[in-house]
Amino acid sequence: MKAIPYGRQEITEGDILAVTEALQSDFLTQGPRILTFEQEFANYVDAKYAVAVSNGTAALHLSVLALGIEKDEYVICTPITFAASVNCVQYCGGNVLFADIDPVTYLMDIESVNKVIKSNKDKKIVGIIPVDFAGRVPQLDEFRALADEHDLWILEDACHAPGGSFLSLSKHKHKAGCGNFADLAIFSFHPVKHIATGEGGMITTNNEQLYRQLLELRTHGITRDAAKFENSIEFANGNSTKESSDFPMWYMEMQNLGYNYRLTDFQAALGSSQLLRADENLKRRIQIAERYTNELANCKGIIQSSGTIEGHAYHLYVLEVEDRRGLYDYLRSEQIFAQIHYIPVHLMPFYKNQGWKEGDLPNAETYYSRCISIPMFPSMSDEEQSLVITKILNYY
Ligand SMILES: *Cc1c(COP(=O)(O)O)cnc(C)c1O
Repeated sequence: MKAIPYGRQEITEGDILAVTEALQSDFLTQGPRILTFEQEFANYVDAKYAVAVSNGTAALHLSVLALGIEKDEYVICTPITFAASVNCVQYCGGNVLFADIDPVTYLMDIESVNKVIKSNKDKKIVGIIPVDFAGRVPQLDEFRALADEHDLWILEDACHAPGGSFLSLSKHKHKAGCGNFADLAIFSFHPVKHIATGEGGMITTNNEQLYRQLLELRTHGITRDAAKFENSIEFANGNSTKESSDFPMWYMEMQNLGYNYRLTDFQAALGSSQLLRADENLKRRIQIAERYTNELANCKGIIQSSGTIEGHAYHLYVLEVEDRRGLYDYLRSEQIFAQIHYIPVHLMPFYKNQGWKEGDLPNAETYYSRCISIPMFPSMSDEEQSLVITKILNYY
């Protein structure tokens, strides 16, 4: 049997057809498929607006730019995430404070966030970046209440959770990235994620003003909206002798410092095609998770697992185990490529150089010492999963 990775994309004949069709059209980039994909994606996550960008990291960067941060301001982040969900604060010249994780959900712990706010009264904290780690969506209604109390924005990193949801205190179901509580949410379409476009990302929101701002920031900070122009029509017209009360068609203004973070039209075509299978693939992920939970329930050596949780989108299925290194090496020797998510961001040398050290976030560090993500992707066969389960049981 061939190697089993922890995650893998699936490209169907339909996907190939969709991309081929886009390649044969008049648009390679900035064509009509971008807006279509944006609207379909917004619809899928129950948000009003979506902005497609070149990758998840670009989505994070633009989001922090739009939400706003100044040089001497701080954002609260979780250490158990991909480094980009923290780095985005630094891209914009801001500073990072870490809160610890909840040892059961592995999500940013709201009590810890509260403590960080209380013990940093001398600092200006402007935002929080909770992460839907592994596919589990945080209790964003509670985060919103806390954020409102302290006038903070919320950027939800929902890369792991397209289609995932949580139940609010009032027992309503809210989807990851729906924008009911977070100001902005971001997604990635890297091949290991639920929906793959090669590289790609999306920002979702219910806030029209942020939406318009993000559209401009994605394309160099340029606007073509005449109502917003700051220069005069006379200037725009140049040496024209023709009297005109309209701006000429070519005219545009760069009003803010933006970037080129666009997705291409053929990537959007792939995204739309992949989105057609999103529900089906999510069901398959849940099925795989249920089987892991059941068949590994009595395995000695396993301390805790992702389990079977309502609303979980299962980007990852995580085990906390004894002798993690031993299990990892053993699985590798059997062609099963597990992965570790994540090395705590605050202990990356870049952040250690800012003063963070071992012992600062004990829950995250204990979690890291024993976590392992076992193979989880919709196209994994029952036989492949059987092999993974047998080998883990065998090891312990
Ligand atoms: C993948 C990922 C990102 C970054 O997305 P890219 O598209 O690779 O830039 C950010 N945050 C989390 C949690 C991710 O899993």
